[in-house]
Amino acid sequence: MESTRASRNAASWRLGTAATAALLLATCESPPSLLEQIKTTGELRVVTRNSPTTFYIGRDAVLGPEYDLARGFAARLGVDLRIYTADQFWQILPDVMTGRAHLAAAGLTVTPPRLDLVEFGPVYQRVEAQVIYKLGTGRPRTLRDLLGGRLEVVSGSSHAGLLERVRYREPLLTWIESPAADVEELVAKVASGEIDYTIVDSNEFAVTQHFYPEARVAFPLGPAGSLAWALPLGEDTSLREQVSAYFAELTASGELDRLLNRYYYYAGDFDYVGSRAFVRHFDARLPRYREYFMEAEETTGIDWRLLAAMGYQESHWNPDAVSPTGVRGIMMLTETTAAMVGVADRVDPRLSILGGAQYFTRVLRKIPERIAEPDRTWLALAAYNIGFGHLEDARILTEIAGKNPDDWEDVREHLPLLSQKKWYQRTRRGYARGWEPVYYVDNVRRYYDMLEWMTAGDSMDPIILEPVQELASR
Ligand code: GLU
Repeated sequence: MESTRASRNAASWRLGTAATAALLLATCESPPSLLEQIKTTGELRVVTRNSPTTFYIGRDAVLGPEYDLARGFAARLGVDLRIYTADQFWQILPDVMTGRAHLAAAGLTVTPPRLDLVEFGPVYQRVEAQVIYKLGTGRPRTLRDLLGGRLEVVSGSSHAGLLERVRYREPLLTWIESPAADVEELVAKVASGEIDYTIVDSNEFAVTQHFYPEARVAFPLGPAGSLAWALPLGEDTSLREQVSAYFAELTASGELDRLLNRYYYYAGDFDYVGSRAFVRHFDARLPRYREYFMEAEETTGIDWRLLAAMGYQESHWNPDAVSPTGVRGIMMLTETTAAMVGVADRVDPRLSILGGAQYFTRVLRKIPERIAEPDRTWLALAAYNIGFGHLEDARILTEIAGKNPDDWEDVREHLPLLSQKKWYQRTRRGYARGWEPVYYVDNVRRYYDMLEWMTAGDSMDPIILEPVQELASR
């Protein structure tokens, strides 16, 4: 294993050297800068890792905040992005140091020891390292409470480094560093009781916890940390300058916040009972209806997981659900809606799902096509929940306030005004329970993200990871 890895690195190093030599010959002057090399080869090589907060492959798209950031950067340079995942976490920095990758975008924490190995780009997110334990086993409050328990962290991670630094406070503290593990796996082990504790960055935990609701935060370890890209050390500042300029632009335009918000908007808003139920129903109920959601995708072109997320929000995938207002079935259709889309029996799961999908498509078509995704879908979801007319009113209020009626975040902020007299008096359709679609869309997005992540590996055989990753180069 070791020797394979070493020889593979050596091979790519030789390749890198040959490419540089060719470029040198071509210019016959000073060696080309890193930036010139990237532009000449037309390819930015980025190393990352697989996690919901960095990079993962969804059904038909590559996703993750680090992926989005890297793609934006490659586009800015006008080159193709070649992104790949390191087999093990500790390999990430060596790949940057040897030039195998031009940079690492992997949710890396800036730490003093790492500053001797790489240069970090601008900080794009602040996180806390959190000690995680299993609910019901007694919450540890200090390092001392961890003594005697089995604590496992990813080797080479900032968390392993942090433990080294605090060891003097508890000399008897022991832990295991596993090279092959990733954060999600360790959280799963805590949730199942296989290990007692692990340490996870707060951003990752906020997302991962939805899948492992038994896992809880015990206490934060050390001061807050900063995430940044890692770049090679040295006098050649060409690439680092571009990275700094890129992040400065993203920050100034608000794009950085928007991008992170896309993945973290529900972080910190964790609902233990709700998430535990979701995971349970994912296993127990969804398998019975999944084929109907997929059939609905075939007829409407809408991602089945979005439809399933809507179905979960409506009825928790319960075909017998009924509300006091008379809506019923998995998709909770009103009698009028059911008649409109030709559903004879609202309690029939297949008909309900196909009918709900059909109705959602009608709503979606009313939302102007010029509105970019995913905002168009979120606006359609809000309209599906509150009615198209009320959504229009909220968009008008958004515009009056000088905000963008095509931007879901802006409309989301103004929807609740529909329940305040001084605002709804000025609208065409009047009062509406404007906070409801906000809650509805937030929840559907959360379930949709969870489904996306939970079904991401379904069509992916780990052995064919290489070709699948080719998808990621644009
Ligand atoms: N931010 C952590 C680090 O840089 C991530 C470690 C991990 O999630 O495995 O080490």
